[in-house]
Amino acid sequence: MSVVIHDSGDKHFFHCPGCGCAHGVDTGWSYNGDAARPTISPSVLVTTVGARCHSFVRDGAIEFLSDCTHALAGRTVPLPPWAGFDSDSYAPGGAS
Ligand SMILES: [Zn+2]
Repeated sequence: MSVVIHDSGDKHFFHCPGCGCAHGVDTGWSYNGDAARPTISPSVLVTTVGARCHSFVRDGAIEFLSDCTHALAGRTVPLPPWAGFDSDSYAPGGAS
């Protein structure tokens, strides 16, 4: 199975297919330690100017809540294999 989590110190990063960039959580979240089928809780909320991304990571998939501002709001998609912070090899958002 593909590794979808990147560990760096106390942080765990994954590529968000909704935002097209990496999100990270620290020790304030629980993580099951499975880099291929991660479950992270509680929810991950990322806000930037004009944008909002709110998700649950469960069992290797990312569940976007309906309050996201990107196209994957309300959808659940598999996390893509980790390919680096600025890789151009990620598929565009919208994979089923
Ligand atoms: Zn996101």
